[in-house]
Amino acid sequence: MNPKIYFDNNATTKCDEEVINAMLPYLKEEYGNPSSIYSFGSSVKESIQKARKNIAELLNAKESEIIFTSCASESNTTAIFSAVRNNPNKKHIITTSVEHASIMEAMKYLESIGYDITYLSVDEKGKLDLEEVKTAITEDTFLITIMMANNELGNIYPIKEIGEIAKTHHILFHCDAVQAVGKVKIDVMAMNIDTLSLSGHKIHAPKGIGVLYVKENIPFIPLVFGHQEKNRRGGTENVAYIIGLGKATELLLKDNFTTNQKMKQLRDEMEKQIQEKISDIKIYGDMENRLANTSSIAFKNVNAEELLVMLESFSIFISTGSACNSEIAEPSHVLTSCKANLKEYSPIRISFGKYNTKEEVELFVKRLENVVAMLRRK
Ligand code: PLP
Repeated sequence: MNPKIYFDNNATTKCDEEVINAMLPYLKEEYGNPSSIYSFGSSVKESIQKARKNIAELLNAKESEIIFTSCASESNTTAIFSAVRNNPNKKHIITTSVEHASIMEAMKYLESIGYDITYLSVDEKGKLDLEEVKTAITEDTFLITIMMANNELGNIYPIKEIGEIAKTHHILFHCDAVQAVGKVKIDVMAMNIDTLSLSGHKIHAPKGIGVLYVKENIPFIPLVFGHQEKNRRGGTENVAYIIGLGKATELLLKDNFTTNQKMKQLRDEMEKQIQEKISDIKIYGDMENRLANTSSIAFKNVNAEELLVMLESFSIFISTGSACNSEIAEPSHVLTSCKANLKEYSPIRISFGKYNTKEEVELFVKRLENVVAMLRRK
């Protein structure tokens, strides 16, 4: 039997054992409601505060600026609609053509009710032009929303510079940092970020827990009303998952980018071996500013879906683009924005995580070489 090789960590990650163990007491014994006055509830509240402290430290934020949500999609939606409702007289938003679906779909909806959206274009490497950000700004612009790192290409965007532009023009700046956490040093103060989203399941916490950072003194209107999270996000707290996210964050802080270095070595070694062994390949993305764990790679005249299916038969799990898009038959909006020649070069996405090893990379390249040769002979 083939050992399972999971190289799709930008889609989701395995929950860390330490995270599971930290969560378990809150599913078994510590089931009090954090809003209760008695100690059985209030002690849970204290544990939530510890988790909040870790996340604040990760972002260089204040604990009071951290709101727990159900996922990053909720955080993105909340940030966008808070900005919309706080600026009823303005109608222009700037974003990019390569954002995650939770941003794209919100933009499409706002367009349908009369908002004017500028989708900044990217070049063939998926890079943004900062000048275009500046020239897109009008008197009517109230929000800029741009991701820190792209889930498909791994491109890292110049967030500090964009934050600076937004600040100079007194425009709110929202940043989807889901893919950047643990791979890029995030500092919401230095980067002039007003609101930011992150997700637990990309950093070895469970699916279904997210964070929204909201800078102090930014006008804010909740999406889900209620008393929890200081009236900013209603709903009884998902205690165990918050504790899990707190633990995953603690582990990231301790790790201090050591794993990121390890993933970079794996990725670079894999790309080197592929380049040596397989002809006519193309690596997508910005080679100078790319997440250390990500590789979007295509093999001339080899269909990525067919490749994915063949690799799956060897228990190797990769993706053909964004996992969130895999149910949609259309080509990825990120790759079409890069004007990729998908007929000739349709890429697979390999994204490493902390559990991947050199041995897995070697086995993968060996299988890949055979499978590509087989598909090319077809
Ligand atoms: N933003 C980006 C860049 C993502 O890659 C994802 C998930 O794939 C999300 C947002 C959504 O995160 P969640 O699954 O927590 O809603």
